[in-house]
Amino acid sequence: MIIAIKQGVSAEETDHFAAMLERRGVKVDISRGASQTVLGLVGDTSSFDPEALAAHHLVAKVIRVQEPYKRANRLFHPEDTRIDILRGGGAEGVQGANGAAGAASSIGGGMFAVIAGPCSVESPEQIIAVARVVKAAGAAFLRGGAFKPRTSPYSFQGMGCEGVNLLLEAKKETGLPLVSELMEIHQLELFDGIDIIQVGARNMQNFNLLKELGRSRKPVLLKRGLASTVTELLMAAEYIMAGGNSRVILCERGIRTFESFARNTLDIAAVPWLKQKTHLPVLVDPSHATGIASLVPAAARAAAAAGADGLIVEVHNDPENALCDGEQSLTPAAFTELMASLRAYAELEGKRL
Ligand code: PEP
Ligand code: MN
Repeated sequence: MIIAIKQGVSAEETDHFAAMLERRGVKVDISRGASQTVLGLVGDTSSFDPEALAAHHLVAKVIRVQEPYKRANRLFHPEDTRIDILRGGGAEGVQGANGAAGAASSIGGGMFAVIAGPCSVESPEQIIAVARVVKAAGAAFLRGGAFKPRTSPYSFQGMGCEGVNLLLEAKKETGLPLVSELMEIHQLELFDGIDIIQVGARNMQNFNLLKELGRSRKPVLLKRGLASTVTELLMAAEYIMAGGNSRVILCERGIRTFESFARNTLDIAAVPWLKQKTHLPVLVDPSHATGIASLVPAAARAAAAAGADGLIVEVHNDPENALCDGEQSLTPAAFTELMASLRAYAELEGKRL
């Protein structure tokens, strides 16, 4: 971090200010020019708030050189993180775990993982039918919402606890590990059998929730907020990791822009940017990013070609009658066709599907 001192500030005042900064744990190099004095802060500046420093009466300008995220930063952890989930049970294993136990579904570290299933769990018949279809097509995880963050309070809110139980039934039947959204921390006690906890776009900056999930040992699929920058997404991941939970998976799911032909705008360049900046796996959700089923396959293939570590895709056995997000849900046939076409794109980027 670099701090430019205002003109006219005395050397004594500057030394005083530098000493105050050093008491906060950094080394300060002072460079006194003819008209400008500049402080270079060396060390861990993650706890320094540039805006607070800029408000100091001696400071003209603050420039951050290092990124504010440490644990998520690839600079300090060059290897891709890989998250392994044992099929048909608990979990465990993170990072470079080539030797992870037998039948595991993995995300990151060269694996291209596809998470598929309905937006919401609606009935025993529906979730079992979709689970069978996505498994047969090659998905590694089953998704399904039991607690739904809906824009309208009058829309279907999800089956809640009963929905979780139906997901567990589907896991028993297919062996597919489960991904489901948690909306508030008290729901965690119901999520014992859920393998990956989804934090939805609307909760990406629910910092209390993120802190609590930092204390959990469950992998977290963190979706980008509707109007969040990629740096804010990484800082949200940092909240979870700072609490001790390093098993975070990021998800680009489209953002709000002026464009209205699609539900959201898929920020495809965010994928290679995130892959450069972080070692965490990066997924794409082409369903919420487009909101239109006919656009989903192309967006999914683009994600694979851009270097994503996988996808989370909505699939419904009867999209026309879905209780949630039917317009963006693939039919079983369309999903099966997509899976067949994806491998080549994933392989182009050195990923195994
Ligand atoms: C979902 O996955 O069904 C969902 C609500 O996603 P998002 O939080 O990205 O809108
Ligand atoms: Mn949905």
